Amino acid sequence: MSCEAFQARFLAGEVVAGREGHLATCAACRSAVGGLEALRDRLADPLLWEEPEADLGMRVVAAVAGETEAARVRRRTRRTPAWVAAVAAVAVVAAGAVGLTRYRAPDWEVALVPTGAAPVAVAEVAGWNTDRGTRMELEVRGLETLGPDAYYEVWLTSSDGRHVSAGTFRGSGEVTLWVGVRRADYPRIWVTLEPADGDPAPSGRTVLDTRL
Ligand SMILES: [Zn+2]
Repeated sequence: MSCEAFQARFLAGEVVAGREGHLATCAACRSAVGGLEALRDRLADPLLWEEPEADLGMRVVAAVAGETEAARVRRRTRRTPAWVAAVAAVAVVAAGAVGLTRYRAPDWEVALVPTGAAPVAVAEVAGWNTDRGTRMELEVRGLETLGPDAYYEVWLTSSDGRHVSAGTFRGSGEVTLWVGVRRADYPRIWVTLEPADGDPAPSGRTVLDTRL
């Protein structure tokens, strides 16, 4: 196990198999463990991730060091020590490992309401606009888990009636989807129950829909 892998997994809060073995043979990680524990606690704080910016690594480091804003600004005018870049790199790896990629506030949110076909279902959708498309996170409740012969499909529809599929899923819980269009152009989001019959068109069996 490399030091980077060990430190990233440690920061992610994993029980690292071979941890004692690595620490026994690696003085660098042994001396870093105290600081890593403090950093791990800070990484678990959602407030840290509310406004991620280019200097996220620097802010993580500053938070761990318990520095004041003034001290941080002063330090920035000096040459950045090499260890800052190393810790920042590890912090970014750890952030991915612990699923904190949703640190930026969503660009939009919408609740989907049930239709008669699934009267207790509900979904909240959060969306992030990026250069690569729109990332959506759905929190779905009240939809039964489907067998192998059907799936739920998420659709976006433009104001002039064009549909684009955003992907499929099998039951309630958290679902992450990407779609290559902007919600500003495709305002309606809806979910259908699709038989696994190879027909790419919407089945018409809508279970959740945007209240437009
Ligand atoms: Zn090591």
